[in-house]
Amino acid sequence: MLLEVRFMMAFPGMLLGTEEEYMAGEGTYAENGKIYANITGEVSIGTDKKIVISSNNRLKTVRPGTVVYGRIEEIFEPVALVKLEPIYDETGRQVFSSYFVTLHVSNIKMGYVNSVKEEVRIGDILKARVEDMKKDFIHISIKDSDLGVIKAFCSECRGELLSMGSSLQCGNCGKMERRKLAAV
Ligand SMILES: [Zn+2]
Repeated sequence: MLLEVRFMMAFPGMLLGTEEEYMAGEGTYAENGKIYANITGEVSIGTDKKIVISSNNRLKTVRPGTVVYGRIEEIFEPVALVKLEPIYDETGRQVFSSYFVTLHVSNIKMGYVNSVKEEVRIGDILKARVEDMKKDFIHISIKDSDLGVIKAFCSECRGELLSMGSSLQCGNCGKMERRKLAAV
């Protein structure tokens, strides 16, 4: 069952639903009555119940402005280390392997942010944009409204956070948390 479509980020092999409830669309495949993700990307469900995964990752190069997806691996204030998903070109060849990039506290949102942990936590999945590339480091930004956390996990129990109006609540322990979310 799909828990929370708004934050659904799919990775290859992730179970998305059953063929009783949904239809397998672009970026997915069906096997033994179950629908799985074939690529990394954001999940959407049409009115026809077709599950589609749209990926921005099929880019040839990474340059400032490129949209990337990644997971927060570590936080060393004032910076978070983010592991990017591999990026493939149109032929399916991997052109950018899993790679660590940095998210500085000043690149989280407009206005002053006191600490990275106020807005993102370890394990969260981000949609971000490459801000600049210098000295072998790639810096990403989630400042724009369409960027930010797309899937969040409880800082207490690692349960998935579900949207409850404007805030987030852990589906497991009930803890309320907040994030800099990507607007839908
Ligand atoms: Zn929890």
